[in-house]
Amino acid sequence: MIDYKHEPFTDFSKQENKDMVAEGIKIAQEYFGQDFPLVINGERIMTEDKSTVYNPAKKDEIIGYMSQATQKEADKAMEVALETFKSWRNYSFEFRADVLFKAAEIVRRRKAEFTALLIKEAGKPWNEADADVAEGIDFLNYYARLHLELKNGKKVESRPGEYNQFHYIPLGVGMVISPWNFAFAIMAGTTAAALVSGNTVLLKPSSSTPVVAYKFIEVLEEAGLPNGVVNFIPGSSREIGDYLVDHKDLSFVSFTGSRDVGVRIYERAAKVHEGQVNLKRVIAEMGGKDTIVVDSGVDLDKAADAIVASSFGFSGQKCSACSRVIALEDIHDELLEKVVEKTQKLTVGDPETGAYMGPVIDEASVKKISEYIEIGKKEGKLEVGGNIDNETGHFVYPTVFSGLKHDDRLMQEEIFGPVVGFAKAKDFDQAIEFANDTDYGLTGAVITTSREKMEQARRDFHVGNLYFNRGCTGAIVGYQPFGGFKMSGTDSKAGGPDYLLLHMQGKTTSEMF
Ligand code: GLU
Repeated sequence: MIDYKHEPFTDFSKQENKDMVAEGIKIAQEYFGQDFPLVINGERIMTEDKSTVYNPAKKDEIIGYMSQATQKEADKAMEVALETFKSWRNYSFEFRADVLFKAAEIVRRRKAEFTALLIKEAGKPWNEADADVAEGIDFLNYYARLHLELKNGKKVESRPGEYNQFHYIPLGVGMVISPWNFAFAIMAGTTAAALVSGNTVLLKPSSSTPVVAYKFIEVLEEAGLPNGVVNFIPGSSREIGDYLVDHKDLSFVSFTGSRDVGVRIYERAAKVHEGQVNLKRVIAEMGGKDTIVVDSGVDLDKAADAIVASSFGFSGQKCSACSRVIALEDIHDELLEKVVEKTQKLTVGDPETGAYMGPVIDEASVKKISEYIEIGKKEGKLEVGGNIDNETGHFVYPTVFSGLKHDDRLMQEEIFGPVVGFAKAKDFDQAIEFANDTDYGLTGAVITTSREKMEQARRDFHVGNLYFNRGCTGAIVGYQPFGGFKMSGTDSKAGGPDYLLLHMQGKTTSEMF
């Protein structure tokens, strides 16, 4: 087997690659506006009730109408998943890994279409859409290899006349609740990890981006995944979310999304219901309030580039996005000036036309971000941005606030939009103290030339992903396992060597002879 390497990013300065996206858009447009079904045991089920999926950059462009599962379909999906688990858990490790390898190749073949779909359905700029698809391919390739490594379990000792073995077996039926911000990568990655480990899956994608998830179901089918292993059940949280999380036959939930929903799932999953025999596991990847600390004596242009890219890439809608800058006093003003200058140059518009920043995902997001912009105006000084254009699409301009205290609301609460706040620290110790002073602990970056300060941050800056002399977004599968501490989640490092074990349980066998 070839060693794992991450999927390269596409260079969109080349005309042939631009043409590829245009081609992808044509392919995807063929099915825009259609009705899409649930998929349970391979069977397509159209429901009466459908949600409208639209392009957040062009509200009147309909991506599709997605069938919505009710408790009736949720029950059916659960029944199928329980039944299918009886056989799927006994498939060979090779078979399960090969489904993922094959799926990765199919996505690669359909890369232009998937990229186009993310541009249209999630409002992603080209490079972000391309990275999302690449990351999905990476998850498939990486977890397939990881699964094969677990085939023989792990070594344990045996005494004379005794043969001990330690193997990993799956958990059962898992529910995957995936987000819209990495509508392909995280949806495909969390689903792939659950299924390759021998579990069966109920996949409930985000209601903003279910079409790309439906297209992934097609990929899994073509890759040879038996019916009933992954059951596709988009639906509202109110109708089927709590219902399935509470279900006595569910073994685990793999959730990526907001802190509020994550905490709610964590609490509900802890309750043991009548007839339940497994304690449910929760894998939760929640929010972030991620800080870039900038030390004195560094290249401020480079620091500003890292801040701008981390704060405004995909309109700041990443849990890894930079939303706080803590700068040492002596360089603060010059750094701020550079960030403002670079921010002013960013283009905002329909990502299809190549704008650097596209829209935010929906009305609710525009509302939430505008409320925080108002809070920011009271707490600090608006340096640039703050304006919103919600006419044809949901556009929020990249926004920088200065003069904040590290514990102001703007510096504490997750906004999930293109808003970054600046605060000063008198020295490096204080900068790390301020950086740590949030409920979250996902990503962080330190820009410094001092080896000692790097080591201090490595020890004391309490985040799951700490980066030096670069921005705080863009973790690569298999290179920078991704997941956070504190209220950012269960530190379930996606794309890391321990990830699959969260979906499995160890079984010890001991034989005497
Ligand atoms: N893995 C992504 C990154 O490092 C962020 C994932 C997320 O926002 O959920 O940028």
